[in-house]
Amino acid sequence: MEYQKVLNDIYNEVSKLPKVGSVATSIPELAKVDPDKFGLYLTTFEGKNFSLGDYQEKFSIQSISKVLTLTMALTFLDEKIWERVSVEPSGNAFNSLVQLEYEQGIPRNPFINAGALVIADMLVTVLKDPKQDFLAFIRMLTGIPTIDFNLNVAKSEKETGFRNAAMANFLKSYGNIKNDVDTVLDFYFHQCSVEMSCKELAQAFYFLTNGGRTQTGKRILSKSQVKRTNALMQTCGFYDESGEFTYKVGLPGKSGIGGGIVALLPEKFVVATWNPRLNKKGNSELGMKSLELLTTKTELSIF
Ligand code: GLU
Repeated sequence: MEYQKVLNDIYNEVSKLPKVGSVATSIPELAKVDPDKFGLYLTTFEGKNFSLGDYQEKFSIQSISKVLTLTMALTFLDEKIWERVSVEPSGNAFNSLVQLEYEQGIPRNPFINAGALVIADMLVTVLKDPKQDFLAFIRMLTGIPTIDFNLNVAKSEKETGFRNAAMANFLKSYGNIKNDVDTVLDFYFHQCSVEMSCKELAQAFYFLTNGGRTQTGKRILSKSQVKRTNALMQTCGFYDESGEFTYKVGLPGKSGIGGGIVALLPEKFVVATWNPRLNKKGNSELGMKSLELLTTKTELSIF
C-alpha cells in the first residue's frame, strides 16, 4: 500500500474544501490555537511511518485522553469498571447531564465527560500520585519522556469548567464519585490538558492495533481488553456523532475538542489527524473528512 501517496492525495483534496467550523471556545486557552494547522501521521502494524503537514506540532489532546485513562483503569480494575459506568452510546453531547438522573448516576460510557469523571475518580483512588502516574503511563506507552500537561490549559479549564463541576457534584450525589470532587476535577482537567503531536498519539495508541502490546513489545492490555476498548471507540468515540463516524469512516477512534482524532485498524495501522476547526458536534471537520478519504482510498476499514 502506498500510504504516503494516499496521505498526499488526501491533503490535496481537503485543502481545497471551504473552511468550515471554528476552534473550541469552551476552554479560553484553546481558542488561541491557529485554526488552520493540519497534521496527519500514520504508523503501520509493521512499524512504517508516513506523515504530512504539522504532524510534529503538539496540541491539546482533550477527550482523546479518555481512552488512555480508561486503559490505565482497566489495568487496575478490569471488569469491575462496568459496575460504575455503562458501555452504551449516549446519543447526547459530550458534556450533557440529562441521562444521569434517569440512570441513577451511572454514565452511559467512559468517553462522555460524566463517564470520564468516574474513571478519573477510580484512578484517584488507585494511584499514589495520580497526575504524575498518568503522565508516566503515557511516557511509557510512547517512550517519550517529555510528554507533559499544559498547565495554562488545565488552569483555563478549571476557571471555566462549571458544567464539569456540576456533573462531578451530581455524580457524587449518587455516590458514584468516591473522592473529593475538587481532587477528581483537578485530575480530569490535567488529563485533558496533555499535549501531544499526531506522531506521539499514533505511538501511544499503537498497542490497540497490536493486540495490547506497545512497539517495544510491552503488554499493556489483554487481547480481550483491547477488543472491548476498540469496540467502545467504535460505538462511543465521537460523542453524538459516533454513528456518523462509523458510517463514513468505519474505524474505531476517538476525538477531542483540541481538534485531534486517533483511529486505527487492528493489525493494519494507527492514524492521527489534527485540525482545530470543529463541527457543531465538537469533532474536527477536516480530520473526519481525511479519515473518510483514507478508508475510501485504501479500501481498508473494519467493515
Ligand atoms: N476538557 C473538555 C471538557 O471536559 C474535553 C472535551 C472534549 O474534548 O470532548 O469539556
